[in-house]
Amino acid sequence: MGYTDVMGPSSPRRLLAISIWGSVALTVGVCSFGIRLTMRQYQDTQGILLDAERRATTPHRAALESHLQTLEDRALARLAGSSGTPRDLEAVQHEFPIFRVPFFIFEDGRISAPSLRPATSGRTWADDEPPPIVYLNAVRKVHSQGDLAGKRIALQSVHERDELAPRWRVRALTQLAAAYRREKQPREAARTYERIFADFHAILPTLAWPTLLQLCLVEAETSGDLKEGDRATTAIRRGLEHLSIPERATTLSEEEFFLRHCRALIERPDLAITDDVAGAVRRAEVALSAERMSHSALESARDLIRSTSAPNGVDDGSHLLATRFRNRLIPVVWRNVRAGAAARTHRTVAVGFLIDPPPLIAELGRWLDSNVPDADLRVFSTDAPGPEVVPLLPLSGDLGFATLGKDARSWEDTLGGARRPFILAAVLIGGLGLILIVGLLFLHRSVRREMLLARMKTEFVANVSHELKTPLALIRLCSETLELDRLRDQDQRKNYYEIITRESERLTHLIGNVLNFASIEAGKKTYTLAPRDLAPLLEETSEAYFLKFRDRGFECSHDIPSELPRVLADEEAVAQALINLMQNAVRYSDAEKSVVVRATTDGSSVRISVQDRGIGISPEDRTRIWEDYYRTGSARALGTRGSGLGLSLVKHILQAHGGDVELVSRLGEGSEFTLILPVTGDTITEVHDEVEDPRHRG
Ligand code: ADP
Repeated sequence: MGYTDVMGPSSPRRLLAISIWGSVALTVGVCSFGIRLTMRQYQDTQGILLDAERRATTPHRAALESHLQTLEDRALARLAGSSGTPRDLEAVQHEFPIFRVPFFIFEDGRISAPSLRPATSGRTWADDEPPPIVYLNAVRKVHSQGDLAGKRIALQSVHERDELAPRWRVRALTQLAAAYRREKQPREAARTYERIFADFHAILPTLAWPTLLQLCLVEAETSGDLKEGDRATTAIRRGLEHLSIPERATTLSEEEFFLRHCRALIERPDLAITDDVAGAVRRAEVALSAERMSHSALESARDLIRSTSAPNGVDDGSHLLATRFRNRLIPVVWRNVRAGAAARTHRTVAVGFLIDPPPLIAELGRWLDSNVPDADLRVFSTDAPGPEVVPLLPLSGDLGFATLGKDARSWEDTLGGARRPFILAAVLIGGLGLILIVGLLFLHRSVRREMLLARMKTEFVANVSHELKTPLALIRLCSETLELDRLRDQDQRKNYYEIITRESERLTHLIGNVLNFASIEAGKKTYTLAPRDLAPLLEETSEAYFLKFRDRGFECSHDIPSELPRVLADEEAVAQALINLMQNAVRYSDAEKSVVVRATTDGSSVRISVQDRGIGISPEDRTRIWEDYYRTGSARALGTRGSGLGLSLVKHILQAHGGDVELVSRLGEGSEFTLILPVTGDTITEVHDEVEDPRHRG
């Protein structure tokens, strides 16, 4: 009977599938939409928070800018009132440490600033007098094609003339040393330099050429040629000492030249210049670069100020100029002071100062920390924000090089705190969706099971009714015939009686099975277990049924020992199980008609098996046949009717006995069912229906 016959034409199974899978799809859709919305909100949080943060920070930015403005105004006013000498400017610098290099620019373009040295030398080659003729001749000889000996004699003769001014004698020796170096005689060159330092050390710092720095450098380089690291180190150190004298007579470009060449020497591994000297060279380079920056910034400021200053002297507003030096921005703040009192005295065009961003940024950071401590605000260079800040607002005016931002760690905390609910919501929505889907799948499974059970029960009712009708009809027919006494033949009559007996037995068995099952279902089934030798029972029961089976053309045999170990058993129930198995063996046999009953023991259990050569059971059906009402497709195809309860009962009985059932079967070749009962002591027990209901097996 088809499933649709039972459940009606509009298949509830399809309806169920549509509603369940529809609900799953809807759940997935709604949840993913919810999660997407939540995640978008999560993304937006950053923008919303940033906007709010910017609005909150704006007043702080204004306060910061006006704070700087006040400081600048004060410094500019102080400058305008000062005398403008480098010493005075140094005092101003001391007063306002964050504004570096305060300066005056005079009408003639001169710049006055503390300790500002000329970028290029103002000294000339000849100083005050023309070179003496002997010196000129010797130099001419040096640059001619002649041999070294001749040049040496010419230069030494200049050096030896005591009546000549010492600078000419130093220059002659310097030329000589250079000639030795050109001719690859470094040893001689080194000796000559030694002589210069020994004989003329007192006048060396005053010379325009060779300067002391130049001499130190060539001496170091000659030592380098000789691979004498110690001597090179001494020469570099002497040059550096000269650099560190505050009022030195060097120029920036000389120092740069000296340091650049010293760097080449300290990088030579074969000279092994000592670390302290190498470190001093590097530090001097950094300091020099800062000074070069100041120079460059002041010079461009001077050029700009002179071209933009109001000619009538009324413009006294302060201005900002940013110059770039080696990729670094240097703001220059100045005020035109042509109209001021100081201007009249000193003929000044402008006063101002340079701003070195890093120290100013540090100062502003300190100001923020003490004035707006809770906002976690940071000022940083717009060029290099760094990972520890989140930019909020660029600063303006004199602070154009800086940006106001928030401390990255505190920002992460704020952002994380604001975002956490969204993550939670997304997880909750996802979790809820998952629970719903799992629930729906469970629902689907159990509804399907229930539908299947309902279908099988309906089939069962149809089957049982038919099973009842057929024997009843036969019994009625036979008994009516007998009642009317129509049969004269004794054999025929006997046959009719036999039919009545067989059919009523069938009825009894069927009703027995149904009742047993009903009492199991109701939980009222009781077994009385007592120690028994089952051999006689097995033999009697199988023999009784074999008679009938043989009539139907079956070959029947049993192999039961005369004695078996005692097992705890309810004899009636065991017989019932055996009968069910034997009847199945007969009912599910086709061409090959054979039933064999065996009983064996291994000492610990008694095994009772029923073997047939019938239709067999497919592997998929082997577990399902134990379920209530279940009947295989091949059994139905064979046309046998049944309730689907026989094996459920067998299983139940064996479980109540603490035993088990085994099945070996091959489709088309036959089956062997084996009941296994444990051998036990001599106790009598009553087992109520407390075994596991086989329908609830996994
Ligand atoms: P019924 O025989 O009344 O249908 P059972 O519970 O006794 O119910 O058997 C369940 C199903 O197991 C049968 O419908 C049949 O398909 C299968 N089956 C049982 N015994 C055999 C057997 N000996 N050979 C083949 N199939 C069997």
